[in-house]
Amino acid sequence: MSSRPKAHGIVPRKSLGQHFLTDDAVARRIVAAAEVGKGDLVFEIGPGTGALTVHLTRCAGWVVAVELDQVLIPVLRDALGGAQNITIVHGDALEVDFIHLAREAERTFGRPFEAMRFVANLPYYITSAAIRRILECGLPITTVVLTVQTEVAERVTAQPPDMSLLAVSVQFYGRPELLFTISPGQFHPQPEVESAVLRIRPHNRPPDVDAQTFFRVAKAGFSQPRKQLRNTLAVGLGLNKAQAEAILRQSGIEPSRRAETLSVEEWKRLASLFMSNKESVA
Ligand code: SAM
Repeated sequence: MSSRPKAHGIVPRKSLGQHFLTDDAVARRIVAAAEVGKGDLVFEIGPGTGALTVHLTRCAGWVVAVELDQVLIPVLRDALGGAQNITIVHGDALEVDFIHLAREAERTFGRPFEAMRFVANLPYYITSAAIRRILECGLPITTVVLTVQTEVAERVTAQPPDMSLLAVSVQFYGRPELLFTISPGQFHPQPEVESAVLRIRPHNRPPDVDAQTFFRVAKAGFSQPRKQLRNTLAVGLGLNKAQAEAILRQSGIEPSRRAETLSVEEWKRLASLFMSNKESVA
């Protein structure tokens, strides 16, 4: 029973972002950050050889682990030493139906879960897509704990005037915090960059603005982040400059500002006004 890839003769596949965590103290710290309880369901994306999974099965009610690489699944089962409270799914985390998996897990568990959480040392090539899938999966998620590149964690937690579309997207759904960093030497093989553990606490309340409109407006603003919003919004939203300026001013935003300087609240005001202006014109 070892989650160590070397002990199993596993040849890590770079194309699947395989960097296995080798430091058990770090694995415990990551799992502790997720605040998992015995009545909880935890989804793990990319369990690999089980560095986190062994701890998750000990503290969760049920674990659903989604792994794309079939070769690793018997190794993972071996590492788990007969733990009964886990469903191992061979599949792509960007495609599986998390709501369906949660329902199935609940049936097997026999009672409603007290909380649902996500934990993952993410393969870096799917970072943004995976974060988006988790936050938009439609389940009431309490915590999301993800190991990502430090640079990504810093971008996600940035504040005005250093916002990016990634920061706005994550902060629309929840409150992210960078908890601690992990050096490349704690993984096998070593990644080229430092990693960081990010915790996101989703808001879990219906957004006060239509999400589709919010992202349409934010994407238009960030299409040319160095340009003034009066220009980017006019081009991106099919408005003339006077209309773009009017919406910005009504939202209390100076039209010469740039996308990186806006807070999520300001994007929300802008999206609401864009929506009501559209309706009044229609
Ligand atoms: N959790 C393990 C650990 O901490 O040692 C492995 C982490 S490794 C960075 C990423 C894992 O995600 C690998 O096991 C890889 O095969 C798996 N993976 C890659 N792409 C995936 C996808 N689209 N869906 C699910 N798992 C994926």
